[in-house]
Amino acid sequence: MRIDIITVLPEMLESPLGCSILKRAQDKGLAEIHVHNLRDYTLNKHRKVDDYPFGGEAGMVMQIQPVDACISALKAQRDYDQVIFTSPDGQTLDQPMCNSLSLAENLIILCGHYKGVDYRIREHLVTMEISIGDYVLTGGELAAAVIADSVVRLIPGVLGDEQSALSDSFQDGLLAPPVYTRPAEYKGWRVPDILLSGHEANIAKWRHEQALERTRLLRPDLLD
Ligand code: SAH
Repeated sequence: MRIDIITVLPEMLESPLGCSILKRAQDKGLAEIHVHNLRDYTLNKHRKVDDYPFGGEAGMVMQIQPVDACISALKAQRDYDQVIFTSPDGQTLDQPMCNSLSLAENLIILCGHYKGVDYRIREHLVTMEISIGDYVLTGGELAAAVIADSVVRLIPGVLGDEQSALSDSFQDGLLAPPVYTRPAEYKGWRVPDILLSGHEANIAKWRHEQALERTRLLRPDLLD
């Protein structure tokens, strides 16, 4: 999979893309992530990419020309499955959406900034709008990092133990059961006996019951 991220703040993405699973996926050649500085595509001699909003509201708006130039340059080289715009009013990111995006070959993620982007970009260039939750971020970079992480970890071979993605919360519509590690007892706090029993079938049954119980308690909406 290839992901092209378009941003006015490329340095904000360096650390999330250069660590942990996203780094490992790129090192293994399973994902390629390219960050493009929007300012490299503007025709403005001061490298400006924003302007005042028509109608005189407060704040600045990202202009069409550099965004169009960057997206066109990318599209001239390959086909893209989606051109994603990160936006608080987009469809909220969830596990089914991550699963489906993980099957894509090429994705563009456009990070908004300031008051957002000229609406014509959303009407004519963007094919999908994603929000990472009902709150407002300063820019789309953190959202792009969240999308890249949640999607790339689902590509087969990226996680060391592939089972671990399958047993994560939401993957089967349930929250994950509790997990424990050594020591079996700490300050008198004991790990549930069943996990020490070595009886695989009973342990699997216990895990499923715990997952159901936690979902019923914490996220009953998932069971509807
Ligand atoms: N005026 C806009 C918010 C602009 S915030 C509004 O009220 O809808 C600046 C940029 O941050 C947005 O264009 C978007 O790219 C990004 N952003 C902010 N909150 C986000 C969220 N919850 N999910 C995804 N992107 C978000």
